[in-house]
Amino acid sequence: MSTIEITKVTKRFGDFVAVRDADLSVGAGEVVCLLGPSGCGKTTTLRMIAGLERATSGDVIIGGQRVNDLTPEKRNIAMVFQFYALYPALTVGENIAMPLHYESLSKPELDARVMKVATILHLTEVLDRMPGQVSEGEKQRIAVARAIVRDPSCFLFDEPLSRLDVELRHSMRGQIKEVLSGLSKATVIVTHDQLEALTMADRIAIMRDGIIEQVGTPHDVFAKPANVFVASFIGTPQMNIVDADLKSFAGGHATVELAGSPLKIAADPAVSGLKPSKVKIGIRPRAFSAVDKASADTIMAQAELIEPMGAETLIHARTKIGDDIRVVVPREMRVKGGETLHLRPDPRQTHFFGEDGKAVRA
Ligand code: ATP
Repeated sequence: MSTIEITKVTKRFGDFVAVRDADLSVGAGEVVCLLGPSGCGKTTTLRMIAGLERATSGDVIIGGQRVNDLTPEKRNIAMVFQFYALYPALTVGENIAMPLHYESLSKPELDARVMKVATILHLTEVLDRMPGQVSEGEKQRIAVARAIVRDPSCFLFDEPLSRLDVELRHSMRGQIKEVLSGLSKATVIVTHDQLEALTMADRIAIMRDGIIEQVGTPHDVFAKPANVFVASFIGTPQMNIVDADLKSFAGGHATVELAGSPLKIAADPAVSGLKPSKVKIGIRPRAFSAVDKASADTIMAQAELIEPMGAETLIHARTKIGDDIRVVVPREMRVKGGETLHLRPDPRQTHFFGEDGKAVRA
């Protein structure tokens, strides 16, 4: 059974806590991305699963077995690193076959295993070449081939695509996802690139300062962020997080003082449980409609900076109390600097966060 589970895992380096009480379980065939800013503890978590780092406390369980005391070799894990090294004096085929050398296979068996993974990763044409004679994308695929050739119990990838250029990353994301979906193994991928996580993962674990803040499907972490950090970390351009005063809630609508004006907006029923208080409201830049006139469900802001982004335009606008609001509108909508905008937030894409930063949601 290919599964990975960590429960209450903590890693201390002296007084410093790099990972705190991390819980995560990855099912067979599931791809989970650890995503977060630099230094949040992603690699340390991965290294504890691999056995390259010892957990200070908590359990690491692979295939149902507690492996805290097993060496990396005994955990039967395949790991692909950001800086994979291929042996320059061996052919591509020999590089892929390297991990099989301890398995005492006959030559035909070994060739068959290499051919099988080379076919999956579209490398059959380059098997006889030397690493210096293949492209960067092929080198990356060779590293993946070398990892899967051994039939490990699960896969760990540490920033596997960060060395590739943008275009190659795009195609490799799809290719790796396709390969993994055919293997039924639990896989953990570390990345700081949210697009990589959103496209490759079945679920994403978002980390900050050593803590897993939320684990959810790409849709859930985008549409139902658990807190202000996740809300502003996921999504480009970044979600607007604006301070507001919750005045009242009635008939499914909240009345708030936002950006210096009263705003009436349909809100999650859980908001009714809040007393009048300071809250934060999250609105994605694409969740505004710019309308002609002010009304009870619009806020006002003045366009300051206009950034064309191809099919869409990003507007940086300033409210009368100085909040900077990002708004994305279709390219056809012509907006000039200095223009007054009346912005209607889509209530279904408007998030309420309490003073503690946690989402207020039923
Ligand atoms: P990045 O995306 O930059 O690789 P990360 O999220 O993978 O970051 P880690 O490499 O897990 O972060 O590091 C988490 C924290 O632990 C960092 O502050 C790092 O400096 C610290 N750290 C990592 N390894 C050690 C070590 N061996 N000794 C002391 N501190 C360490």
